[in-house]
Amino acid sequence: MKAVYPGSFDPVTNGHIDIVHRASRIFDGVIVAVYEAPPKNVLFTAQERVALFRGAVNTLDNVEVTTFNGLTVDVAREAGAGLIIRGLRAGSDFENEFEMFLMNKNLAADVEAVYMMSNLQWQFLSSARVKEIAQLGADVRDLVPPHVAAALATKLREIGP
Ligand code: ADP
Repeated sequence: MKAVYPGSFDPVTNGHIDIVHRASRIFDGVIVAVYEAPPKNVLFTAQERVALFRGAVNTLDNVEVTTFNGLTVDVAREAGAGLIIRGLRAGSDFENEFEMFLMNKNLAADVEAVYMMSNLQWQFLSSARVKEIAQLGADVRDLVPPHVAAALATKLREIGP
């Protein structure tokens, strides 16, 4: 069975990568679906977010990374995947994800969702926090892969203070 892992991934973090590694061992194929234009400000373009994610999972044969717009249930159906994967951190993720799950079920009862608990090491980690602390000058190399840390530094230099 194939599964779709949708998200903004602005940028990909070690928490996302951990979920994909674990999912790739469970499912025949994992399609990472990068939301092109999420309803929030993004730092990286969709193509940059895809390239950064690809650079993090290129050792996994059964993982592909692509962009999407529109409903995740449609993406799952079009990809021939009956399943959406989401990661769950302790705290606020549950409420949001539960609400989204129920809405997706309402839209497409045939598409199932699987929630993978974030490993303890990455519970506190979000793309938003990584961007925030990188902007303030923190070293983020223990939170994201080296190529993502480098891309963040370049992007923040480009956009300036
Ligand atoms: P979205 O904008 O759709 O929430 P994100 O890129 O923030 O996209 O996250 C994509 C998915 O990865 C979501 O299911 C989110 O809960 C999950 N996720 C984010 N950070 C982590 C983490 N540190 N550990 C595990 N899952 C995570």
